[in-house]
Amino acid sequence: MFEITGARHIDRREHLLIPRVPVPKQPPEQRVFNFHEVYLGYNEETVKIEAARCIQCPEPQACLTACPVHNDIPLAMWHTARGDFEEGYKAFRKNSTMSEVCGRVCPQERLCQGSCVVGAYEPPVYIGKVEYFLADWMRKHDKMPALLEKEQQAPTGRTVAIVGSGPAGLHAAEMLALKGHHVDVYERHPKPGGLLMYGIPDFKLEKDKVKGIVERCERAGVRFICNTAVNTPGNPYVEDLLYEYDAVLIAIGAEIPATMGTEGEDTPGVWKSLDFLIALNLPEEMYPPGLERPDIEGKTVMVVGGGDTSSDCVRSAVRAGAGRVILSYRRSEAEMPGREEDRGFAKEEGVEYEFLTQPVRFIPGPDGRLAQVELRRMKLGEPDKSGRRRPIPIPDSEFVTDVDIAVLALGFWPDDKFAKATPGMETKRWGEIKVDPETGMTSRIGLWAAGDAVNGADLVVTAMAGARKAADSIHQYLLALSKEYEELGVEPPKPPEKPSGLELGCAQTFIVTTPARKPVKLDRIF
Ligand SMILES: Cc1cc2nc3c(=O)[nH]c(=O)nc-3n(C[C@H](O)[C@H](O)[C@H](O)COP(=O)(O)OP(=O)(O)OC[C@H]3O[C@@H](n4cnc5c(N)ncnc54)[C@H](O)[C@@H]3O)c2cc1C
Repeated sequence: MFEITGARHIDRREHLLIPRVPVPKQPPEQRVFNFHEVYLGYNEETVKIEAARCIQCPEPQACLTACPVHNDIPLAMWHTARGDFEEGYKAFRKNSTMSEVCGRVCPQERLCQGSCVVGAYEPPVYIGKVEYFLADWMRKHDKMPALLEKEQQAPTGRTVAIVGSGPAGLHAAEMLALKGHHVDVYERHPKPGGLLMYGIPDFKLEKDKVKGIVERCERAGVRFICNTAVNTPGNPYVEDLLYEYDAVLIAIGAEIPATMGTEGEDTPGVWKSLDFLIALNLPEEMYPPGLERPDIEGKTVMVVGGGDTSSDCVRSAVRAGAGRVILSYRRSEAEMPGREEDRGFAKEEGVEYEFLTQPVRFIPGPDGRLAQVELRRMKLGEPDKSGRRRPIPIPDSEFVTDVDIAVLALGFWPDDKFAKATPGMETKRWGEIKVDPETGMTSRIGLWAAGDAVNGADLVVTAMAGARKAADSIHQYLLALSKEYEELGVEPPKPPEKPSGLELGCAQTFIVTTPARKPVKLDRIF
């Protein structure tokens, strides 16, 4: 074993000689029959060796810069290589409360690992695999309660409402609760977690990891108010929350599915990707109303799209027992935006790829359900605005194939209805909420936004980066607010006693125009 000693001084050449430690994984012939994670992870010995492959680059460290939350990866690797897993974890936790998630689902090959200097000579350090080992180790050894206790600050009496419990909402909730603020998270689904729970399948991220984060938030004092779709009749509106809480963060993601407008798209048997993933990956008690599990055993499934969601759909279909699984993408493999690793796994698991094809018609059978899909062949033209070569239809190239279930995985948009029901909150062209890039605050004082709702459909780690900025800004705002109360001699309002959302009216009958809960001077603080 290579020894790392001294004040982070190492012989870089010697460390470059350490070969990459492969991570054991389930073989394809085994994993197609279960939804468990593909990777089995490092153990206490192998993780030390892999972490010791980090050559402790001098600043600026490329991996740290490439990470959207700027994790101090060299420091984490340093501690891990020495077997100090708790300190290694803490190096990640300083900027990220979700190492168990990011280590598993971040596209490290184009972020930290993609910039790892070791990668110029040898395979880069397996940073993600080390990161989630550390988080799992903390949980396995029950180290989190003591750490949380140390991090927890005294109650401030200030209150925050967060709308949405995906990675952005959870990250901000944990940070703000640990700062001593009272945090309520409103979530429309029966359970918290956002796309970590209701999107990303278990074979990438097992749900107990998400539940662990939710439990940690609850331990820090966060209350989750589920089955509550803010800005819809019968539920609180943002306007209500702004009245009831000192600060509000919108973290509702971007979950409105894009459509193609293709003939027959509403034929029974044509699925939206998130419904399909929920139906295949979650127990029925967690389904949103109206969703039913598809009968997939032995059926032919065609998924349309080239991103991460399409990979998740085809691989879920394989595991659910489909007879044949096809992925249709209108460009070639080189233009696919989804993770290459997931595509490699899907191929190993038997998924067939129909590149340069696009559905032009979903054809029902005599029973009215989907029976066939008509596809058109495409060729590549000049690059478009995204830099990828544009797909061009080839005339008279249509062909028909038998398909029982089609799944549209074409991307997602932010919910513009939500924005329209929030007066004074400005949005951008495609419905993304406009925020100050430094603070995450929207065009309304006291109202912040983060995550996919701001970025458009993107990544867990970019959602967290925005949430972190917003949480820092909210914290500063709340401190300033407390000071204001003190200076003005105003008795601050008490935090709500119980989930107030269930009692509140809605904006139509409850339009707040006075700064009822906030001192007048506040406008001048931000
Ligand atoms: C199938 C799939 C696979 C993916 N795989 C990866 C991956 O491997 N790696 C990666 O980095 N990213 C991946 N992503 C993207 C990633 O999941 C998102 O970028 C991330 O979850 C965004 O976080 P968020 O908190 O902004 O939003 P979300 O996770 O979408 O959470 C938003 C939450 O707000 C709730 N909500 C919405 N409207 C309301 C309302 N009116 N009232 C109350 N609650 C509301 C929603 O129910 C949801 O729980 C994937 C996405 C999908 C769809």
